[in-house]
Amino acid sequence: MKILVTGGAGYIGSHMVRMLLEQGVDVVVIDNFSTGNWNEEGRIIEGNFGDMELLEKIFSTEKFDGVIHLAASSSVEESVLHPVEYYKNNVLNTLNLLDVMIKYGVSKFIFSSTAAVYGEPDYFPIDEKHKVHPVNPYGQTKLFIEETLKFYEEAYGLSSVSLRFFNAAGASPCGSIGENRAVETHLIPIILKVAKGIRKNLSIFGTNYNTKDGTCKRDYVHVSDLCNAHTLALKYIDEKPGSHIFNLGTGSGYSVKEVIDTVEKVTGKEITVESKTRRAGDPEKLVANYEKAFKHLGWKPLFGLKEIIQHSWNWEQNLQAQKQRMKMKKNAPARSQTFDKQALTFSAI
Ligand code: UDP
Repeated sequence: MKILVTGGAGYIGSHMVRMLLEQGVDVVVIDNFSTGNWNEEGRIIEGNFGDMELLEKIFSTEKFDGVIHLAASSSVEESVLHPVEYYKNNVLNTLNLLDVMIKYGVSKFIFSSTAAVYGEPDYFPIDEKHKVHPVNPYGQTKLFIEETLKFYEEAYGLSSVSLRFFNAAGASPCGSIGENRAVETHLIPIILKVAKGIRKNLSIFGTNYNTKDGTCKRDYVHVSDLCNAHTLALKYIDEKPGSHIFNLGTGSGYSVKEVIDTVEKVTGKEITVESKTRRAGDPEKLVANYEKAFKHLGWKPLFGLKEIIQHSWNWEQNLQAQKQRMKMKKNAPARSQTFDKQALTFSAI
């Protein structure tokens, strides 16, 4: 089996590529290295997943069995501040990718969607029948593609599984791959940086929500569990072509304060916090019902919040060594590919 993974050098993508390779899948990665820089495995093509010329070249030389589409702009906060970038990247570029897939007869698409499509939920835990009503551009761009996929299935026979991620978190249990962004906005990596002493404190965005302790509640799901769902989804559409949607969460929600308490327990460090006003675009609570994924994909999360934090803490402590190693690798002969548009060849850089 040969799979194209967009965003395969990013946080989730790096775990995904490693898992696929372990399963004997032939993996090609396309990544523009805008936010991800950790993947060391698989064949990597440097470029944008929406670049038609590049996609033409790749699809005309490689015969893929499917595409796992992880690359996206994915910060809720940023999407509220700069929606244009989100519509261009998450919508326009994804439509380009789908165009090329259809042209070359690649009919299996696994799409990383998000719980942000639900907006402010009416009931908990949220199942896939819950109404969709995104309250931020990020969620809306993902919903647009989910809906497009339904029509593309009818018109072009493109089969898809949209996986609605709740809060992706954690690191590989051994701590060798994890989250590392130039500008970090996600809760768990920020708290761990405070625990490590490289950030002064954590700002809690909103303490007057209608929750037990006034802070937002989220369902944190381990990155390895998410990747496992992608491999199950690939098998599923082999047997059941169509356009499918599944929630990926654990069914347990934790408030910001509960996450802080767990970090304090796991790390033994005290977290200094300051209360701030609400962050734009943040729904109050998001907790998944994952029964549908369990029933159809046979998926269930193996890790809970404690393991998520323990693995992320292992990663955070390894981070300096990892950065050093990547720097050395960068200076060694590189293994990624760029596409030379003039010569119509791939060349190693
Ligand atoms: N959060 C916070 N302080 C931070 C970062 C996040 O209080 O520095 C809160 C945020 O408002 C949300 C939760 O933590 O309620 C999870 O945020 P994150 O950005 O990790 O994920 P999101 O739910 O936005 O995808």
